[in-house]
Amino acid sequence: MNVKDILNKEELTKEDLLTLMKIDNKEELQLLFDKAYETKLKYIGNNVYYRGLVEFSNICIKNCKYCGIRRENKNVERFFMTKEDILKSAEWIYENGYGSMALQSGERTDKEFIDFVEEILKDIQKMTDNGLGITLSVGEQTYETYKKWREAGASRYLLRIETTNKNLFETIHPKDELHSFEKRLQGLKDLKKAGYQVGTGVMIGLPGQTEEDLVNDVIFFKENDIDMIGMGPYILHNDTPMGQEFKGKILSEEKRVELGLKMIAICRIYMKDINIAATTALQGLDPMGREKGVLAGANIIMPSATKTSERVKYQLYNGKPGINDDAEKGKTSLEKSLKEIGENVIYGKRGDSPHFFSRNKK
Ligand code: SAH
Ligand code: SF4
Repeated sequence: MNVKDILNKEELTKEDLLTLMKIDNKEELQLLFDKAYETKLKYIGNNVYYRGLVEFSNICIKNCKYCGIRRENKNVERFFMTKEDILKSAEWIYENGYGSMALQSGERTDKEFIDFVEEILKDIQKMTDNGLGITLSVGEQTYETYKKWREAGASRYLLRIETTNKNLFETIHPKDELHSFEKRLQGLKDLKKAGYQVGTGVMIGLPGQTEEDLVNDVIFFKENDIDMIGMGPYILHNDTPMGQEFKGKILSEEKRVELGLKMIAICRIYMKDINIAATTALQGLDPMGREKGVLAGANIIMPSATKTSERVKYQLYNGKPGINDDAEKGKTSLEKSLKEIGENVIYGKRGDSPHFFSRNKK
């Protein structure tokens, strides 16, 4: 079946998804993006929601082979923002009318960390009169911890599966208990049970990843009734095992951006009412990556609200964009370029995943 016919179908099969993922010419690619954007307009409108992103610590107990802040990277100056600084960022986010914020960090599972996050959540909700939707993205925790943080004021959690191909997952992580595919899966189940809007995602363009793997990722998102997706191209980091091994040996940046946009578009067409982020990694490989992401169906952008002095130290990959931009400047220029493509930034609303409410009505 050709691309045009597939895009007119109501239900897509795995074979259809694979055909879309393998599109290799500009015309059909544009048809795909147009259909995805039309779907976005229908289910979300020409609206973009911001999540002010605070990357509050780069201390991590894990050793993922792709990530710049992995435990064994000795070239990173570690930091942990103070409670006061995190609250200050939250205040800036709130006062600037972002309806939501995201707190992200390296993974820690010690009691001190768990208590700290709990306290921060409570303080932010108190300070804003429960006015912010808060997403956590701080790695794998126990069900009890997820529950505790949910009660303290977090309503969303982003835990990427990274890839649903178990073999590939095992090659990009150390083989030990701490980096288990099954545990990651269990985390997504626990998060749903704890009442979160659940987000997951994958890295796109990993060495050895096939188009079929990506299609399986998309099917996984749907089968698991995921509410939000945050995914982006894999980008090398020099001080990592994969950064060393695969330098010059993976898909070109352009191809990874294209594949990232295809993933957004296919997810939008296939899942319709979920939240999809146009991520920083996309912008990392293409200065217009986020805008292109929105035109391919994304509706969420996560502008950094991390202090510039700490942004430098939170580098998961090389060439992280916006390291020196201040939050204020980033805000106006992004809004302007979104306006130019006909999109409104919605202030003062949380921008929850419509899918979360529809699945809970079922
Ligand atoms: N520690 C938490 C959250 C921070 S890492 C966790 O791992 O869940 C957030 C995401 O950054 C990861 O899920 C991974 O998908 C992404 N990431 C890490 N290194 C990357 C790289 N080199 N290129 C692209 N994305 C990367
Ligand atoms: Fe730590 Fe997350 Fe990076 Fe893995 S991806 S090393 S868990 S920060």
